[in-house]
Amino acid sequence: MIRTTCPYCGVGCGVIATPDGRGGATIKGDPDHPANRGRLCVKGTALGETIATAGRLTTPRIDGAEASWGTALDLIARRFSETIAEHGPDAVAFYVSGQLLTEDYYVANKLMKGFIGSANIDTNSRLCMASSVAGHRRAFGSDTVPGQYADLEEADLVVLVGSNLAWCHPVLFQRIMAAKATRPGLKIVVIDPRRTATCEGADLHLSLAPGADAHLFNLLLAHLPETGRIDPAFLRHLSGLPEALVAARTSTPAATDLEPADLDAFLRLWAETEKVVTVYSQGINQSETGTDKVNAILNCHLATGRIGRPGMGPFSVTGQPNAMGGREVGGLANMLACHLEIENPDHRAAVADFWAAPRIAEKPGLKAVDMFRAVEEGRVKALWVMHSNPAVTMPEADRVARAIAGCDFTVVSDLWAETDTARRAHVLLPATGWGEKSGTVTNSERCISRQRPFLAPPGQARPDWWALAQVAKRMGFSGFDWESPADIFAEYCALSGVAGGLGSDFDISGLEAADYDALPPTYWPQAAQKGGRFFGTGQFHTPDGKARMIPVTARLPDPVTPAHPYRLNTGRIRDQWHTMTRTGQSPRLAAHLGEPFLEIHPDDAAQLGFATADLAEVTNAHGRALLRVMISDRVAPSHPFAPMHWTGETAPSGRVDALVTATTDPVSGQPASKSAAVAIRRF
Ligand code: SF4
Repeated sequence: MIRTTCPYCGVGCGVIATPDGRGGATIKGDPDHPANRGRLCVKGTALGETIATAGRLTTPRIDGAEASWGTALDLIARRFSETIAEHGPDAVAFYVSGQLLTEDYYVANKLMKGFIGSANIDTNSRLCMASSVAGHRRAFGSDTVPGQYADLEEADLVVLVGSNLAWCHPVLFQRIMAAKATRPGLKIVVIDPRRTATCEGADLHLSLAPGADAHLFNLLLAHLPETGRIDPAFLRHLSGLPEALVAARTSTPAATDLEPADLDAFLRLWAETEKVVTVYSQGINQSETGTDKVNAILNCHLATGRIGRPGMGPFSVTGQPNAMGGREVGGLANMLACHLEIENPDHRAAVADFWAAPRIAEKPGLKAVDMFRAVEEGRVKALWVMHSNPAVTMPEADRVARAIAGCDFTVVSDLWAETDTARRAHVLLPATGWGEKSGTVTNSERCISRQRPFLAPPGQARPDWWALAQVAKRMGFSGFDWESPADIFAEYCALSGVAGGLGSDFDISGLEAADYDALPPTYWPQAAQKGGRFFGTGQFHTPDGKARMIPVTARLPDPVTPAHPYRLNTGRIRDQWHTMTRTGQSPRLAAHLGEPFLEIHPDDAAQLGFATADLAEVTNAHGRALLRVMISDRVAPSHPFAPMHWTGETAPSGRVDALVTATTDPVSGQPASKSAAVAIRRF
């Protein structure tokens, strides 16, 4: 019986795996894990059905031919070294993943930022929650999630905005609904243009105009002083309130498209409820104004002092199992490790000194969209993709697929050889997967948990940290001689102590001597193991210690055009995960929604002549997808929805990210994956 954690969403549920001795395992929820207390969602309960090794990549391959690890590692080290020597360190890049364990992330980050001397390492978490990171840093001076899951149960009002929590973070939704069952006074408001499954548990659903979230929270901010809800005691911890109010007052109710009674009900409920948590997710983050939307939410919590105390605060829920760990360890191109700043010379010097790094990166690197644009333009000539499938999931995915195919040298580390990205690689490295690898992850509430192995890796599959360290040593670098992930974690903890000495909130140095194998789920900050919240006392990580309220001039997405009159919303469905390499193995999970679909309003369907189960051809200048028609008034007219999980490059193809424009938020670099302008016709 092995205690580990689920490899899917950022709830980070504890799992107990009992191997059957034949390569399988039975799975149940861990009753002692604080994230889920024994609960699992349907994806978690199906984990035992998704660990078959048939079709796995089991040996390294070079240009399609099997090769030894030594030959493959030598080639990678030589090609990266030659590229750096000829074109400089910014001519190489790593594209990593929220599926990596923290120890893998640590080694990749150390190699790129400390030894290669570039910050060209970015993660697919850029597509998920980069706007939250940017919003946190603008307001708090640090990327700090103030609260914990328990706040959702202690609140009197939970507002879910841009989040289909029932499908995308199901156990967290279960916890809220269980709290409501025992305490019916707990009110739930869902703000979403779609009437999702999450609305079934809501007291109020606001079907907001798509993209109008910042307008709504601006209206709320403007409402707060009118009703005496600004917290006078917290004002001394804030800067920028007058400017934020001036900007907020430029928003008008008309922009929200809400019924006046619904809008009024929301404003009054939020203003009058002291214990309020505002949960937000990709519906906020995946926007060309995502960071402003985040700050519009944070502004309301700051102005009322409703932050960092039991049952109150803004709460960003992350999509991936280790998106948070990646943020902490420096997996984003614009951060150093341990929440240190890449632009800060003292921070750079401290990290360089700790690593004995010959060439610390001195400026932020390429964020995901810019990275693949640089690959396309030949500025990045050697690329290493780890546990991600950007040829499917990046915006303008067809263009990204062509860019990867045209790159001088591409390495892919993955479990599978037949992903859309792996097919275009020069070198494939067989990586260990969930149940085989060992390390740590951090979930959305800052709880660090162990992932423990309970299955033998197939063939020659090896951990990512090991492959990275081997390449680093072959490139002539020292400081990569770990024996195990425990050694890496200890080094990471020690570095966090250095960061703590520089004022970083992320200091887990107390875990350096912990028993790694037995490490229980552990929150940071460690000083408050059971309820560590930030900012309740008004101490922020800005130079003057005050939170910054950001003036947000809200704007709606650009209008669609006559040629592309529909605004396509993309997202997840309940029973699949990312590009389905694991969940796609389970017939039980496929039974929920078994093929790519287009959920479209009855008025649109009538206008287009669609009947249920027809095929729709969805197109724009970037790409094309064929999707099964599902007619439903859960979506608004002209705003269809399609899931993002399906792959495949031959018709019919459900690769909807081929249609998503690579427009990004200017602050966070996160793509606007919720609003692609498209044309639709019968196929
Ligand atoms: Fe896994 Fe998320 Fe489901 Fe928990 S809620 S079992 S972490 S997918």
